[in-house]
Amino acid sequence: MALSPNILKHIRKVEPYVPGEQPQNRVVKLNTNENPYPPAPGVAEVLQSLDTDQFRLYPDPTAEVLVSALAENYGVSKEQVFVGVGSDDVLAMCFLTFFQSEMPILFPDITYSFYKVWANLYRIPYECPKLDDNFRIQKEDYYRSNGGIIFPNPNAPTAIYESLEFIEDILLHNQDVVVIVDEAYIDFAGEGKSALSLLGRYDNLLVVQTFSKARSMAGMRIGYAIGNPLLIRYLNDVKYSFNSYTMNQVSLACGVKALQDKEYFRHTVDTIMETREWAKAEFAKLGFHFTDASANFLFVTHPNYDANELFQVLKENDIYVRHWNSDRIAQYLRVTVGTREEMKHLFTFLKEYTLKGTGK
Ligand SMILES: *Cc1c(COP(=O)(O)O)cnc(C)c1O
Repeated sequence: MALSPNILKHIRKVEPYVPGEQPQNRVVKLNTNENPYPPAPGVAEVLQSLDTDQFRLYPDPTAEVLVSALAENYGVSKEQVFVGVGSDDVLAMCFLTFFQSEMPILFPDITYSFYKVWANLYRIPYECPKLDDNFRIQKEDYYRSNGGIIFPNPNAPTAIYESLEFIEDILLHNQDVVVIVDEAYIDFAGEGKSALSLLGRYDNLLVVQTFSKARSMAGMRIGYAIGNPLLIRYLNDVKYSFNSYTMNQVSLACGVKALQDKEYFRHTVDTIMETREWAKAEFAKLGFHFTDASANFLFVTHPNYDANELFQVLKENDIYVRHWNSDRIAQYLRVTVGTREEMKHLFTFLKEYTLKGTGK
């Protein structure tokens, strides 16, 4: 059996995004930036009280309950909120909706690797200005004419946060295109760091966030965008042209509940930030170098140990972290901040390994 060359010629061929591994055995899992703590306790209660008879019906296509809860939580209007199946779905819809110019869109050379995948999938031209040697975005690189801009803040996998003045500067130089700030990790940068506070002054700004990291709900797939009501309307038009019923009933109910428990949210985020700062000191003691991380992960390198080798050895010992074989970051590992116990396990291993002195 073989497909005709004509069929093959007319198939869309893309290089897919490669997600981090999801091992099924019990390991110390520090490879996909999940939250080590469970979702807010109310979420479990919602699941226990679900009326499964409702599953006969399609969910609300407008996701009204969740849109309202998000609008209230962030002090914006419902017309400013769009929700989707994780921020990956939201971002894919944004690429399809807002990046329709002939000009290349811009995003950093080292960043969330999904951007390139969507650009290729939708045949959007793109250029990738280089981060500097300290892995910082050079804002002047974004002053040229372009078809739109997207970057995460804090950036991934560098974990570096750029200030609101920095974001505002990019917005000021790019009033004719949509600028998307992907804030998947913003809560770990501390309070008052989100570009949401700039929305009142910049109609071309779209802020995208997710329940996957700070809200411990990667498995429920909830993401959202907040911005100008007209941008949100165009985004919804595209979404309804693609799939009206993206948000299932269970995710909607759990999402609303998770938002209500602000105390639990603050507590788990603070705990992860504390563990991160402690982990920086531990990495330093072992001779690692790292960026000034403001996310729930660290981006580390060791002058005496090859990162790929370390990655393999850790994996053989059931400690999973993330490593990319791409040029500029091949000597780095991205390590998710887990519980204090998980991190201790990691450091105990690294201490023994580095004591053996089998470095390069
Ligand atoms: C994790 C992540 C996302 C996607 O998260 P979802 O689980 O799809 O909400 C988006 N952008 C960045 C930079 C991420 O790290």
